[in-house]
Amino acid sequence: MYNVKSNKAEEFIDDQEILETIAYAKENKDNRELIFSLIERAKDCKGLTHREAMLLLECEIPEAIDEMEKVAKMIKQKLYGNRIVMFAPLYLSNYCVNGCVYCPYHLKNKHIARKKLTQEEIKKEVIALQNMGHKRLALETGEDPINNPIEYVLESIKTIYGIKHINGAIRRVNVNIAATTVENYKKLKEAGIGTYILFQETYNKKNYEALHPTGPKHDYAYHTEAMDRAMDGGIDDVGIGVLFGLEMYRYDFVGLLMHAEHLEAAKGVGPHTISVPRICPADDIDKSDFSNAISDKIFEKIVMIIRMAVPYTGMIISTRESKRVRERVLELGISQISGGSKTSVGGYDEPETEEDTTSAQFDISDNRTLDEVVKWLCELNYIPSFCTACYREGRTGDRFMQLCKSGQISNCCHPNALMTLKEYSQDYAGDDTKLKADNLIMKELDNITSDKVRKICQERLTMIEDGKRDFRF
Ligand code: SF4
Ligand code: SF4
Repeated sequence: MYNVKSNKAEEFIDDQEILETIAYAKENKDNRELIFSLIERAKDCKGLTHREAMLLLECEIPEAIDEMEKVAKMIKQKLYGNRIVMFAPLYLSNYCVNGCVYCPYHLKNKHIARKKLTQEEIKKEVIALQNMGHKRLALETGEDPINNPIEYVLESIKTIYGIKHINGAIRRVNVNIAATTVENYKKLKEAGIGTYILFQETYNKKNYEALHPTGPKHDYAYHTEAMDRAMDGGIDDVGIGVLFGLEMYRYDFVGLLMHAEHLEAAKGVGPHTISVPRICPADDIDKSDFSNAISDKIFEKIVMIIRMAVPYTGMIISTRESKRVRERVLELGISQISGGSKTSVGGYDEPETEEDTTSAQFDISDNRTLDEVVKWLCELNYIPSFCTACYREGRTGDRFMQLCKSGQISNCCHPNALMTLKEYSQDYAGDDTKLKADNLIMKELDNITSDKVRKICQERLTMIEDGKRDFRF
């Protein structure tokens, strides 16, 4: 029985409710009046229900899709402006006891190179990331209680926050580790993590169990209820996502939105971020697993309708996607992207060569350096932002959501983006990127509406030129 507030996975992600939602969308997909009324309502930035969003996804009326695109762009501009937050993944260890059929780190893969970084190696990785200009990391590690216990993750976070190399500093560490206990989530909170991220992969229980045949991850309920435990452990900001292409995308799209609705109804705070990875090639992965892969067109539609349905959430895309796809979804709703990423363990300090036995989790489509990505964003008139202000100012959980839902957060995001881009331009940018970034900063300064904020921002930009760092609103 569907119950959005239930603490049981099978009640807040009710199979019957998903199937009925998909059937409802198919029945009503030509109902122009209903569809256009939903698109009109989405303009209020108050979101849509999973049923309404599924109907829009099913709709194939060309004029309605054009209108959805306009509204998604409008919502994004209103709530997020033109800043794009930058981050990089940092792989600590690829030891894993699970048997996920789509991931090369699965236990039975004997020809992948297994690596676990020591604290000294982590320092080298972090310095390499700092030297690129990164300020925000997403820690990644396989599930292995012997090789990667929680103590190892906590020690690694402490190491990362402790490294100050020249002007470099990692100011926010987000963590993507396996579902764990409330006690361990409390420890992660105390260690000062930003967002706790865990992808559901698929919300379809039967398929979930087939895709995760062995290991602790096989337990659907334990995995699906992880965000509830994380919030019970005091973590305010959680990031959800599915691996599109693992199951019929409609089912996962509805499940994803039901999960967001559940967190908001049961815990008072919806997901801080939603990630939209698509399955991509990797070592020792059966190519037949790509039979459910979704087209670029549907992928773009998913992004824009999530933007309309959950306006307040940050949306993340990784370097799995090509430059072309990234460019397209940036305008439709994405607010965070990775740049210059390595998906192998230890790949920043010592990049793996083609001859090496790879330790990478997946192949990257966008292989550009961070500097190339920053330059590209400036050329597209987006402000690459290295901002980490909210979590450091205590703007998390419902406090953050209120600011975001009211649109007020952009009063912080915009100047913070300019100041952190200025730091990047001073410390790390190549000549061409620096020129483009500095021009963009001058232009965008005029778009700060408050005279007071503009004046403070201008003063701080001058101070950054004089060598001062780490200002924030
Ligand atoms: S997806 Fe995660 S849990 Fe599954 S095999 Fe890969 S690293 Fe392990
Ligand atoms: S001000 Fe907050 S929401 Fe805006 S970019 Fe910075 S950390 Fe993100």
